Amino acid sequence: MNYISTRGNAPELSFSDVLLTGLASDGGLYVPTNWPTLPPLGNDYAETATSIMSAYIGDDIPHDVLARLVSDAYATFRHPAIAPLVQIDDDLWIQELFHGPTLAFKDLALQVVGRLFDHVLAERNERVTIVGATSGDTGSAAIDAVKACDNVDIVILYPHGRTSEVQRRQMTTVDSSNVHAVAIDGTFDDCQDLVKAMFADEQLRRDCNLSAVNSINWARVMAQIVYYVTASQSLAGSSTFCVPTGNFGNVLAGWIARSAGASIDHLLIASNANDILSRFVNDRDMSAAAVVPTLSPSMDIQVSSNFERLLFEMNDRDGGLTAEQLQRFRSTGKLEVEEDGFHQWISSTFSAERVDDEQTLSEIGRVYRETGMLIDPHTATGTAAARRQAREGATVCLSTAHPAKFPDAVERATGIRPELPSALGDLMERPEHITQLSSDLADVSAFVRQVSRVGR
Ligand SMILES: *Cc1c(COP(=O)(O)O)cnc(C)c1O
Repeated sequence: MNYISTRGNAPELSFSDVLLTGLASDGGLYVPTNWPTLPPLGNDYAETATSIMSAYIGDDIPHDVLARLVSDAYATFRHPAIAPLVQIDDDLWIQELFHGPTLAFKDLALQVVGRLFDHVLAERNERVTIVGATSGDTGSAAIDAVKACDNVDIVILYPHGRTSEVQRRQMTTVDSSNVHAVAIDGTFDDCQDLVKAMFADEQLRRDCNLSAVNSINWARVMAQIVYYVTASQSLAGSSTFCVPTGNFGNVLAGWIARSAGASIDHLLIASNANDILSRFVNDRDMSAAAVVPTLSPSMDIQVSSNFERLLFEMNDRDGGLTAEQLQRFRSTGKLEVEEDGFHQWISSTFSAERVDDEQTLSEIGRVYRETGMLIDPHTATGTAAARRQAREGATVCLSTAHPAKFPDAVERATGIRPELPSALGDLMERPEHITQLSSDLADVSAFVRQVSRVGR
């Protein structure tokens, strides 16, 4: 199995190279040269995951090794079904994707990706230094995924005083010598700018073998295909999936599962007030606006990086055209696509709804009154969106975070403060390991050099 760039001008790579490379050299994202159909599935979640992923990994990792890595990854989950379905209304289901170690759906992919990294690096006798910026969820999931990896050091920058206490503690209470949570005096954008500047520093990049596990990483998308398949398999008939969306990684995995033959009829994109994708799907208007903070912060994104992979498919895999459209998008802030056939192509599979904070709170309240369940604000954008679009057959709303990860919003909506699962019950008492730095690039780069074990 080989991979090509969505911008058509980068070398074809195998899975392992794509895993470690991230972005293609032409600025594009890697996709398989052809989309495999669904292989025979397994008897449990880990077996099915191994079977599906090996179709995308090919010969790069032997099947028995992959099976062991995947089984280890999902052994960290608190629920035996890994991604269980729960019914909340007639034809309306929630798929709980928050039973992993950091209580958000990113664990389903990152627990596997961390282990794939460590395996491939050990085979090559190499090390990397993962550097990333986080406003909360991604950083904790990435840290937990690599905390036991021998060949990975990780430095995560977060804005000092601007994450929730649970999010911060999930990063700072990990006691591993390869993990470095750094509080930056600045905003999330400052953190992201520092990371970009470090990647642009060729010398630092080479000396520390810098790497990233951000949401454009193909292996993350690949691992997310699995729960669409297991859920659609356990429901009769063809279902609709409703996906709270930020960077488009999660819903893209749904599109891939559908194309591979899973019985998925339709994909419903739920946005919050940052609604660029809803405007694009409904009104053909893809124009970037300023990001506004909402109760569902992990969806506070204006430019959804993974959308590029879908755009490439819409363009019949014409990398030149895709590169041109994105170039224009960057300079004008507006994505122009051919009108011919566009609407039919998109609406045959996707629709979209925008759900604002007030509607999110009212939905959390409604689900609590009707079922006694507490749901988090990201999940609530999904269930609210699903109720607006009645469709034939079952609708599965992906529940992307545990309610205790966003307790303030849940308490505001229901009067009840959700409790952390017992495995995390002592999170508030565990000692924290924090490095605090100014947003000065030289200081932050020096810190990365100091902790990186590349070349030692
Ligand atoms: C990351 C995240 C999302 C958005 O996922 P994308 O793949 O970026 O669309 C939604 N909800 C939660 C809780 C998240 O952590």
